[in-house]
Amino acid sequence: MSDAAPLTIISVSAEVAPWSKVGGLADVAAALPVALARRGHRVIGVAPRYAPYDIAWDTRRTARFGLFGAEHEVRCFHARIDGVDRVFIGHPALSRGGIYGDEHGVYGDNDLRFALLSRAAIEAVALLGLSLPDDGADTIVLAHDWHAALATVYLAARYRHHGRLVRARSLLAIHNLAHQGVFSRDRFAGLDLEEHWWPTLDMGGDVNFLKAGIMAADRLVTVSPTYAAEIRRPEHGWGLDGLLRMRAPVLDGIRNGLDTEAWNPRTDPYLPAHYDLDDLSGKAACKAALQRELSLAEDPTVPLVVFIGRLDAQKGVDLLLSAVPWLRREGAQLVVLGTGDPGLEQRLREVGDDRIRPIIDFSSALAHRLTAAADVQVVPSRFEPCGLTQLQAMRYGAVPVVAATGGLVDTVQPYDPIADQGTGWHFRAGDADDLVRALGDALYTFRQWPEAFRGLVRRGMARDWSWAEPAAAWEARMRDALAVPPWA
Ligand code: ADP
Repeated sequence: MSDAAPLTIISVSAEVAPWSKVGGLADVAAALPVALARRGHRVIGVAPRYAPYDIAWDTRRTARFGLFGAEHEVRCFHARIDGVDRVFIGHPALSRGGIYGDEHGVYGDNDLRFALLSRAAIEAVALLGLSLPDDGADTIVLAHDWHAALATVYLAARYRHHGRLVRARSLLAIHNLAHQGVFSRDRFAGLDLEEHWWPTLDMGGDVNFLKAGIMAADRLVTVSPTYAAEIRRPEHGWGLDGLLRMRAPVLDGIRNGLDTEAWNPRTDPYLPAHYDLDDLSGKAACKAALQRELSLAEDPTVPLVVFIGRLDAQKGVDLLLSAVPWLRREGAQLVVLGTGDPGLEQRLREVGDDRIRPIIDFSSALAHRLTAAADVQVVPSRFEPCGLTQLQAMRYGAVPVVAATGGLVDTVQPYDPIADQGTGWHFRAGDADDLVRALGDALYTFRQWPEAFRGLVRRGMARDWSWAEPAAAWEARMRDALAVPPWA
């Protein structure tokens, strides 16, 4: 709890766990609002209603907007969970089953779908009477990634510039700069924005939702300090580094937290045995059970290396594939859990044998069991805004071997054998040889220096990965935004 006035925070995102999840965005949109509510704020999490969710009741409140030449009616569904009001926006375009697309590919009208979400978010909160002050005092619109970025523009264009919510401010949370929501110029006309907003959305002649958010938001936050610095350079800026340099005074990096209740090895319902820092015997039982489950040799002395994540170029799965022959020679076991690029899925299937287990699936239960069973978790990302799997790994006593990029740098401290300090190993991002070198260090320590390895395990488990500290930092940035005039 802080002493200052409680805030009203409208968090808008395309994903929110457990209802809709592709990656870490869903975890953050689930947990950050809860952590902010625990600090005494009124938090409303707005997301699409992709499917009928049992927990949310139909408020029968509707709002209508003109977008892309048609009238659209959205319907608000509501649930109050863990101190957070969850509002789900119902509309036929949002409830086709998929989040961004289906087996035929990405939906062709994602500009409409996410403009609708962004346009409806503030209105839904007003409709439901969820303590939104008329003048927007102490009110924050927190837009996550490109899908919600237009909420920062609509706050300015449709509210503040019309004398409504004039004291409200917006924050754009950048979880991944590589995904920007780019659409052709002619789509601008459908967005219900006056022509003078075109330069805000214009990126090289196309409509760019994320760029619009970077231009319109009162403050910007990305999900780790190192990533906040990286995205201001051309190598990681995806064309937006110049703008981000311009807005650097209001751009901060706050590392993500972990839902330490959902990820608790003492109580995790997915695990066959439980453990904590004082008694790690349950972790050995989890490893044995997983080896049995996956028909791997049941042997505590064989190092078990795990990868969990989306199978795409960002995650460096190709680097991991190139390390497979070496891992095989080393006699390690490797389990890969993920879905994504069909080419990578196929290459993974082809390397499977009695030690290498590719599992092409999205399964939270298995992700938890694998993390508990693992000795080493490998995160070979080419870039990584924050990364959650290395936090999950350390919380569960798996030692991370990570690419030295973004949030991985901020959360994994390299092992120093002389000082007996550190929580994992780093290697140069994108460098397959250095990945093998770092994995080699990890396996060598696991086999030859078990006491030192246990030290790494314990230090990772002892760290506080909860949202408490990051949520306090987010609140401070929100108060910064409220203290000054609007940017747009
Ligand atoms: P990103 O957001 O780039 O996908 P993060 O590491 O930030 O990467 O978050 C990924 C989240 O999704 C983690 O909670 C991870 O455990 C989970 N996850 C990724 N792939 C799978 C999978 N195949 N099955 C279950 N959970 C997964």
